[in-house]
Amino acid sequence: MNSIISDLWQLPRDIVSDGYDRALAYLAERVPMTIHEYPTGTPVWTWRVPEKWTCEEAYLETLDGRRLLDYADHPLHVVSYSLPFEGVVSREELLAHLHVHPRLPDAIPFVFKYYERDWGLCASQTLRDSLTDPRYRVVIRTRFEPGTLKVGEIVIPGQSEETFILAAHLCHPHMVNDDLTGVAVLMGVAEALLSSNLPTSNLRYTYRLLIVPETIGSVAYLSHNEDLIPKMVGGLFLEMLGNDSPHALQGSFYGDTPVDKTLWTALRGLDPQAYWGDYRTVIGNDERQFNAPGVRVPMLSLSRVELPDSPTRPYREYHSSFDTPAIVTEERLRESRDVVLGLLEAWERNLYPVNNFKGEIFASGQGIWIDYRINPEGHRVLFRVMEHCDGTLSVAEIAEKVGTTFQAAWDVVSLLAEKGLVELVG
Ligand SMILES: [Zn+2]
Repeated sequence: MNSIISDLWQLPRDIVSDGYDRALAYLAERVPMTIHEYPTGTPVWTWRVPEKWTCEEAYLETLDGRRLLDYADHPLHVVSYSLPFEGVVSREELLAHLHVHPRLPDAIPFVFKYYERDWGLCASQTLRDSLTDPRYRVVIRTRFEPGTLKVGEIVIPGQSEETFILAAHLCHPHMVNDDLTGVAVLMGVAEALLSSNLPTSNLRYTYRLLIVPETIGSVAYLSHNEDLIPKMVGGLFLEMLGNDSPHALQGSFYGDTPVDKTLWTALRGLDPQAYWGDYRTVIGNDERQFNAPGVRVPMLSLSRVELPDSPTRPYREYHSSFDTPAIVTEERLRESRDVVLGLLEAWERNLYPVNNFKGEIFASGQGIWIDYRINPEGHRVLFRVMEHCDGTLSVAEIAEKVGTTFQAAWDVVSLLAEKGLVELVG
């Protein structure tokens, strides 16, 4: 996962651009991937695919030719999708088009104007504060032309056509945690599922893993695959997984679907520090397109967004030139990949235990009794889970009712299945 980050992070991955295409082509060499292409101008529901954007050259100079900032030094110096502009402007006009980061005085901010177009440059607050000349020269040579928006799709077929979606966004020039880390974790999950000791035919669900330019990529894909939407039973958007915070799980629009219950009860077993946030309260991204009217696929999102009371939420370096490989570690990416695999394992196991028994099970007689004096919580979970095994609740629902993790409920249920006391039904 580290090589994905080190090889791709510096590419100017604007939403429809050569940099984005190169990054996607690189990923397509690692796993079997279909690349869907949507040409500029294609109507996608209420949206339209934008032009390809290229910045050839951009800089800001004093009138005597001293260069103050240059796109060649950092692609964030130009607003993504900035209009071209060349001329001498007053200090006042320049400042109206020169963006800075709200919190980090030495960082260059990431600013994009995909649809409300204007010309613009970005600089550190420190540089902006040093501008005292009455006039400056601005040169922005950008090109808008027909191109194709690209979505990468990895399909891992299971027994059922019912589909679970994983998604991450590959756009954002020269940044890492948002959201190259989501892409790296998604690729790690893809590689693990594809090389799994389990033949993939053992999977109950089909998995579609999507790599998109944010928002417009999901809209383009969904609008061109409307027939797949009724088969999408749930999903998980992956983002901001490299920084040092516990996992955050943001619920779906409905918030109480089987996917919400399964992933949350399972995440508590995988990362005891993890926290839950309702829909739109942690971070907003492509999951909004899947949860939206006319689609309503319950898609959650997994991130390491800082806790709600953090003043630097979602994370300190968000949308800035400080979002570099230095703020993420391979270890956290591996942890997150394993968490995602654990969540998918729970989703596969979210069956309904149907009782073959009547009355309370004679636990000692079955050799499954747990001594409450030695392990009171184990004893409690055993008996509380057993009494809910009547075919009306799934494993996740039982875990929720009992107030335990998915994994603890599963341990009891699978033991009962081994003993022939329950049947696990999909
Ligand atoms: Zn972003």
